[in-house]
Amino acid sequence: MKFKQIDINCFKSFPDQISFPIDKGLTGIVGPNGCGKSNIVEALKWVMGETSAKSLRGAGMEDVIFNGTSDRPSKNFCEVTLKLDSDGKKSISENLGNIEVRRRLEKDKGSKYFLNGKEVRAKDIHILFADLSTGPHSPSMVSQGRVGNLITAKPTDRRAILEEAA
Ligand code: ATP
Repeated sequence: MKFKQIDINCFKSFPDQISFPIDKGLTGIVGPNGCGKSNIVEALKWVMGETSAKSLRGAGMEDVIFNGTSDRPSKNFCEVTLKLDSDGKKSISENLGNIEVRRRLEKDKGSKYFLNGKEVRAKDIHILFADLSTGPHSPSMVSQGRVGNLITAKPTDRRAILEEAA
């Protein structure tokens, strides 16, 4: 399975639509503190079905919607689209090959998920990513501070992390 592109619209610090291509080889995001690097990773977790606002550094899920700045009004929705190639992996979904997963959140209305443009249940998205051996809690997503935690962890805690990854 390969991630190919993330499109972000009104999510956290991105009031306008941005497209973030993930090409072959290494892709890096470079920028000063607070420019939104972690927000891009959180957009990836969110579109894969993250349900915990806390793990997206928010108090409630609507905190992921762009909340305005001194010269930009806040928005009342946000949307993230993930384009991926299932790379021959099978899923219960009929849509293998190139897949497009979209999550849209509107204020007071909750989240909607779309698979190749068709509305589906959150559960279908969870199953799809589980079948592709990934998801918002994949151990291959190593967030800020986790490497430090791993180094300073007690041997038993480190064992639990390594077993989860294995
Ligand atoms: P660092 O290098 O310090 O880890 P970073 O580049 O990873 O920083 P982020 O933590 O992704 O930066 O982004 C933080 C910025 O996102 C802050 O300026 C914060 O105000 C902004 N931000 C977070 N949520 C929202 C929101 N809902 N609306 C607007 N801006 C937001």
